[in-house]
Amino acid sequence: MKLPARFRGLPVSAGTAAGVLAIAVDPDGDTAADTASAAATPEEVAAAFAAVAAERSALAGRLRAAGRGGEADIIEIGALIAADPSLSGPAVASVRDGADAATAVRETTERHAAAMARLDNPALAERAGDIRQIADAVLRRIAAGGGARTGPGGTHGGPGGGWPGTAAGEFILVRREVSPTDLIELAEAGLVGAVSVAGGGSSHAAIVARGLGLPMIVGASPEVLTLPPGQAAVLDAEAGELVVGGPPVPGAPRATAARAAAGGDPPPAGPVRTVDGREITVLCNVASAIETRRGLAAGAAGVGLLRTEIPYTQAADWPTRAQQRAQLGPILALLANRTATVRLLDFSGDKIPPFLPAGTGAGLAALLGHPSALADQLRAVLEAGREARLAILIPMVSSLEEVGRVRDVLAETAAGLGLAPPPLGIMVELQSTAAGAAAFAPAVDFFSIGTNDLTGDVLGLGRRDQAAGPALAAHPRVLALVKGVVEAGQAAGITVSVCGDAAADPRVLPLLVGAGVATVSVPAARVATIRSWIPRLTAARCAELTRRALQASSAAEVWDLVPAL
Ligand code: PEP
Ligand code: MG
Repeated sequence: MKLPARFRGLPVSAGTAAGVLAIAVDPDGDTAADTASAAATPEEVAAAFAAVAAERSALAGRLRAAGRGGEADIIEIGALIAADPSLSGPAVASVRDGADAATAVRETTERHAAAMARLDNPALAERAGDIRQIADAVLRRIAAGGGARTGPGGTHGGPGGGWPGTAAGEFILVRREVSPTDLIELAEAGLVGAVSVAGGGSSHAAIVARGLGLPMIVGASPEVLTLPPGQAAVLDAEAGELVVGGPPVPGAPRATAARAAAGGDPPPAGPVRTVDGREITVLCNVASAIETRRGLAAGAAGVGLLRTEIPYTQAADWPTRAQQRAQLGPILALLANRTATVRLLDFSGDKIPPFLPAGTGAGLAALLGHPSALADQLRAVLEAGREARLAILIPMVSSLEEVGRVRDVLAETAAGLGLAPPPLGIMVELQSTAAGAAAFAPAVDFFSIGTNDLTGDVLGLGRRDQAAGPALAAHPRVLALVKGVVEAGQAAGITVSVCGDAAADPRVLPLLVGAGVATVSVPAARVATIRSWIPRLTAARCAELTRRALQASSAAEVWDLVPAL
């Protein structure tokens, strides 16, 4: 390919970034990866295990040095597993006997994982998931050809493993479908931006990119995957463009959005009010400790949505109680005496893991259908969140019966731990649930409106759809439902928040305030911006704006009515 080359994409998370390209090669269904796996020698397989061990150990060291011992402990377990010869030895021997690397690594690690999972000791049983994660990282490294070799400049420092090109410091990740886990795992390992071929503005990778303040575009040409890793590139996610191999840009900004979120001015603190005195509570949406720290530093009053499923969207099995407790511990520890709204595992839309194959029933039904998944998760949350002001949020609710079942298990689990059950709320994100909000209100302690799914449901758009995006919540049919939910909540005296990404969109936030919303939960890296917008709004004018918007016939017509913020 002739360089410099330009690739267009749909901007889904604002900002600009300069770095080298890290092109991820996907182990599944990727011809290049299959070839790499078939050709990998026993030495390369051994080197891939060693490289994963080394990068995890290095990351644990950095986390510990930064005073984040809890997270370091978790990463270190992965390093020990990857370095364990009783795991790598049989895989290497199997390749020596003629097996291809992918089969050898999968089969041998799965034997260990299954044996661990059967153990009675929960702390050891939890290692099954860790072993499977290490197997994934090793396979990614082999698929990328990064077993014996290292990328430019040495090994990279990300826990994900196997992203060629990530060695040279700051890098832009390019992948067929960037996953939210990629972004969280690599956020503190030099990742400054992301380019995805698949996905849209409502995909969870886009949501997490906004939460981390990482510039990102989607819908890039698949040709971008054939670029040489390690090439210098500039991602302009305002203009929707990746420029590869151009002349170096003097002083090119490194992830401007992330930098704005990470530091600079002292964070605003305390409540925010509209011009006419309506107090609006600003919380943040998170899936990781990194986002939680950023949101709180920017002035969030707490967490309005903790997406617990994100770390497990590529998992091979239901996460165990111990795994979840270890995952939630570092996040909830940051939220002592603050609101911590923990949503139950929401394996729906673009977050359905491999252990819930299509057609087997995902979402809330899967959680309620599994004999111990709900009780395991609730116990993990209650144990890890003793210091926080916990609230439990049920995703994708469609019936009162679902609420009753969760309430029963919550009461039983809390009683077993000698605790009072925390408030129980529901996500209002299905059209039928929003329309029937008045019937749900007496049965729940709060509503949280998920405009991402609600908008998709009303307008018939999927989560990966490139036509979908937060601003479409301005559509009068969506807005009418939001207003109805707020009124139902007010009538029942319960809190109603909006945690969909529309709350952070300048074309929608005034309409939500106009509909009576007084609590919003927004991507962590957007907290400071949203807090700065609220004092520019006048609640009474917003109410008039929403009244007019409800007469319109399209989202575009509504956007034209909303004054610039
Ligand atoms: C939503 O649907 O608006 C929501 C907040 O949940 P998620 O984006 O995780 O589906
Ligand atoms: Mg949702």
